[in-house]
Amino acid sequence: VFIAFEGGEGAGKSTQTRRLQEWLTEEGLVARTTREPGGTPLGAKIRAIVLDPASAGLSPRSEALLYAADRAQHVHDVLRPALDAGEVVITDRFVDSSLAYQGAGRTIPMDDVRSISRWATQGLQPDLTVLLDLPPEVGLARARGRAAADRLESESLEFHQRVRGTFRALAEAQPDRYLVLDARRSPDELAAAIRTRVSDLLQG
Ligand code: C5P
Repeated sequence: VFIAFEGGEGAGKSTQTRRLQEWLTEEGLVARTTREPGGTPLGAKIRAIVLDPASAGLSPRSEALLYAADRAQHVHDVLRPALDAGEVVITDRFVDSSLAYQGAGRTIPMDDVRSISRWATQGLQPDLTVLLDLPPEVGLARARGRAAADRLESESLEFHQRVRGTFRALAEAQPDRYLVLDARRSPDELAAAIRTRVSDLLQG
């Protein structure tokens, strides 16, 4: 079973991926969390490049290809083998992040982002995507003070609004495959809603 978490800055994805993994483990399942960019040793190097403020001059296409390379390695080394072994795999970001950030954010045509993503993943898709939805003003305020804050300030509010709008549109287009939650709710409430949905998924 493959579960992706998506959302903008400061939405609480890392807290919720960890809590879901802990709960699944208590339930006796083999579950792991991973993330993009940076879910493999190569990915960690790519993450350092794409998130380096000195990489501000990266062209949108090279940035998109770096994220695709990160994802291809992640699928090959981590996601595919773990899913084939029957594990529950929870990833903090997947293809939707590229559609939102490289597509809507950097304005690369969506079909191009879709096709390089499909090529990189060999068509792997989450069984469920949890979207932790948050107005960017709130998320950016929460994310300030983290190490990456300088880089966040370099993007306009409109950039983050396009990112949010794309995540929501993707979820609306496939309501059965998404759980959309208001990330302003408390961490406990969010974790409970996620557990309910994931139990249904595991029983279905
Ligand atoms: O979720 P996390 O904080 O690890 O993401 C790091 C940053 O990478 C995000 O702030 C986002 O701006 C950027 N990102 C991106 N395109 C992706 C994935 C992440 O621009 N496909």
